[in-house]
Amino acid sequence: MCAFLSTHGKKIKDMASESSKERTFVIIKPDGVQRSLIGEVIKRFERVGLKLVGLRFEVPEAGKIEEHYTLDPKWKENVGTKAIESYKKKGQQPPSEDPIEIGNLVVERLKKYMTSGPVVLMAWQGAHSVELIRKLVGGTEPRSSDVGTIRGDYVLDSYMMADTDDRAIRNLIHASGSVEEATQELALWFGEEELVNYKLVQEGILYDVNLDGILE
Ligand code: GDP
Ligand code: MG
Repeated sequence: MCAFLSTHGKKIKDMASESSKERTFVIIKPDGVQRSLIGEVIKRFERVGLKLVGLRFEVPEAGKIEEHYTLDPKWKENVGTKAIESYKKKGQQPPSEDPIEIGNLVVERLKKYMTSGPVVLMAWQGAHSVELIRKLVGGTEPRSSDVGTIRGDYVLDSYMMADTDDRAIRNLIHASGSVEEATQELALWFGEEELVNYKLVQEGILYDVNLDGILE
């Protein structure tokens, strides 16, 4: 029984320590900085138990923004297709029927938006960090994102307003959509030496199998 428990315990421990290393990439976009939401965003990620492992403040270069949004070669086409559908759903004529052309237009709008002021670049680590941060951030369009999420609680923009004014939707934050995307984006924005490996005291209560060392 004891042997089973210890073997079983070890497996869980290995799994937990592996999961706790998952990393994701976040940008507090220029509107997030201008709305004085840096502290609020960091607080929400900290209080769920995630660990900040990289942080930089800068005005991004347009070329870097283009690289960021085209890391996935399919992204332009996917966004273009989605945008065309959303124009049609609103009864509007899209500026083009070609998804790539619309994708290019979206990238141009994003370059203007993302280089308009300083942003906060962050790397966060912890179990399910990619999924948890996406959940806390909420859906892409603030108008329809859930109450309680950052985009749902702190801003009001819509595709309708953004498309009408020919600009990017102002949704405060970028967060990686998958572990693969996170790996690519972290490599694009951070040098290996900028990401810090360290232990947080609270990780004991989050991940330790035995919870030993608490009682005196
Ligand atoms: P995210 O991962 O939730 O940020 O969303 P995506 O990766 O799908 O899109 C990134 C950015 O592209 C968004 O923040 C928007 O600025 C833009 N975008 C995405 N989908 C659409 C769309 O359907 N219409 C328009 N106009 N812009 C979009
Ligand atoms: Mg995305």
